Amino acid sequence: MDNNVKIVVKKRVDKTIKNLEKRNMSGYYANDLKELKEIIDRLIPDNSSVTVGGSMTLFETGIIDHLRERDLTFYDRYEEGLTPEDIKEIYFKAFGVDGYFASTNAITEEGEIYNVDGRGNRVAAMIYGPEKVILVVGTNKIVKDLDEAFERNRRLAAPANVQRLSRKTPCHTTGYCTRCNSPEKICHAHTIIDGQMIKDRMHVIFVDGYYGY
Ligand code: SF4
Repeated sequence: MDNNVKIVVKKRVDKTIKNLEKRNMSGYYANDLKELKEIIDRLIPDNSSVTVGGSMTLFETGIIDHLRERDLTFYDRYEEGLTPEDIKEIYFKAFGVDGYFASTNAITEEGEIYNVDGRGNRVAAMIYGPEKVILVVGTNKIVKDLDEAFERNRRLAAPANVQRLSRKTPCHTTGYCTRCNSPEKICHAHTIIDGQMIKDRMHVIFVDGYYGY
């Protein structure tokens, strides 16, 4: 990334972290993937139980492999050979783990965390249950405000996920959301996390670069 762009992006990260802290959430900045893993290892000690929400970011940043390699009890929904029943069981186990990992669809400079889920398991665990929630967020997902967060989802994140999942929805053809009611729709639960009652529960780690949708 051009250094001048990096300076501007970092200012947005700093502002977002400051506003997350006002909302009883913690923010961190990782210059690269090595720093990202170091922050995660400080937050989640060995022998913890962990699981993940559906996330391209966690794959692209190598966090899925990192969790597999560490000395953790990892309820791994991506493990080969799992049946739909096994995966459903992991979704429920998420509510009792020490660390829940996910990304987010957008985060505003004001520190609001915006997500859209199909099934709702990811946002449910973000909201309630796990001792700690760790969100790994590429700096590409910072937006000015909630209007921009909605637009980001409607014009990029959701249609891109529809392409990945090969769903037969209007946005698969048009490339943007028409708020359909298609049987294969992936957008059912829209959530805004405005803050936390429990300090030290929600941790957002920004990593420099373009990750996920
Ligand atoms: S609501 Fe429908 S059209 Fe909009 S992004 Fe979701 S699946 Fe696509």
